[in-house]
Amino acid sequence: MSTLKPIDHQNIVLRLLARSAACDAQHLATLAQAYKLPVSLHQVRVACDELCEQQFVARTITGYRLTAHGECELPAVPLLESYYVAPAGGCCMTRHAYQQPKCPECQYRKPPSEFRDPGTFEPLPACKHCLRKSQRGGQRWTA
Ligand SMILES: [Zn+2]
Repeated sequence: MSTLKPIDHQNIVLRLLARSAACDAQHLATLAQAYKLPVSLHQVRVACDELCEQQFVARTITGYRLTAHGECELPAVPLLESYYVAPAGGCCMTRHAYQQPKCPECQYRKPPSEFRDPGTFEPLPACKHCLRKSQRGGQRWTA
């Protein structure tokens, strides 16, 4: 019985692809089983197609592989372990992680605290890391 949503299937596929070379959907489904993840071959296929559309994943002759865009996305998706350690309600957490705000500069998803000035709590136009980079040499920005 699976309580995972399509977005979770996609996250799982992203994680699995990060751990293997280019491979086909069948191999991904086998990998998922090895991790005891409740994802069927069909769900893996659907997730792969969706990820291709989002350009996180590319099709190659040998199968699917992560794109550079996909590798950027990866730090924001939950670890594989969290899918079967967390109880049914845990899905809220995994979805929360996915919906973290994305930095317009580096394209990484980061916790909301990364986008607030720690002193004034003003919203920032980019993550602290990018702001620090852009302000290097100029007015010193301290976090
Ligand atoms: Zn950034």
